[in-house]
Amino acid sequence: MQVAACGVCRTDLHVVDGELPNPKLPIVPGHEIVGRIDKVGDGTDALSIGQRVGVPWLGQTCGQCRYCRNGSENLCDRPLFTGYTRDGGYATHVVADARYVFALPQDGDDIATAPLLCAGLIGWRSLQIAGDGQKIGLYGFGAAAHIIAQVACWQGREVFAFTRKGDDAAQAFARTLGARWSGSSEDAPPEPLDCAIIYAPVGSLVPLALRAVRKGGRVVCAGIHMTDIPSFPYDILWHEREIKSVANLTRQDGEEFFKIVPKARIRTETVSYPLTRANEALADLRNGRLRGAAVLVP
Ligand SMILES: [Zn+2]
Ligand SMILES: [Zn+2]
Repeated sequence: MQVAACGVCRTDLHVVDGELPNPKLPIVPGHEIVGRIDKVGDGTDALSIGQRVGVPWLGQTCGQCRYCRNGSENLCDRPLFTGYTRDGGYATHVVADARYVFALPQDGDDIATAPLLCAGLIGWRSLQIAGDGQKIGLYGFGAAAHIIAQVACWQGREVFAFTRKGDDAAQAFARTLGARWSGSSEDAPPEPLDCAIIYAPVGSLVPLALRAVRKGGRVVCAGIHMTDIPSFPYDILWHEREIKSVANLTRQDGEEFFKIVPKARIRTETVSYPLTRANEALADLRNGRLRGAAVLVP
């Protein structure tokens, strides 16, 4: 297919930095791909030439392992991941397995849609895993949190946004998207939270988030890689608090999420870069210079 836009995800930084095991090398990164089909393989009936589609991180699964068979294909023993173990979307064209591609509305803003393919999808999965608590904390207010804050507000929840200390711009941005409170991740929220999702790859946020949730509260780690979690007193886990991670996505997550996108009227904030400036986009993400999500346009 022909790539129209490809989002830049923090996972791409982990791939580029060699922080994830066994990548395909050399690799073309990128797993938030929006484009149009320009060629269809033999035996593929579900998609047609010219159709607008999205290609996510989950590139392929085996269909046979215990996880695939019990509805947890996100945990497949023999998966392929776009932009990690198969070539991705930092390119003009990409080859995808038709069974793992999402059909998108024929009209739509390609750049605005790209971040939904991972920040949105993983965000959605992490929100479901966080449970249905009313007061939800989001740690790290980047691409995923800015989408999930909108979904959570649409669901009628109260969002508490935590950013790096002194990042007034991100804190103000969170409030414009409906957050009830925003502040530094070192600050305690004004009241105990029911659950928290950590999007930043920073292990020291785990004990901070545990301290912020109420008894029985849950802390969800949504990233593929995180710095080590420092030791912490058992006291802050006690009272049935939980820590859980989120890995990858299932196709069902995508089908559910893309139905919600128009209902929740999700608007993504993007900064676009020509494909030739991909390294600049990665550097801006690394240095926290972005508001919303970076998107490459070939
Ligand atoms: Zn499998
Ligand atoms: Zn991603």
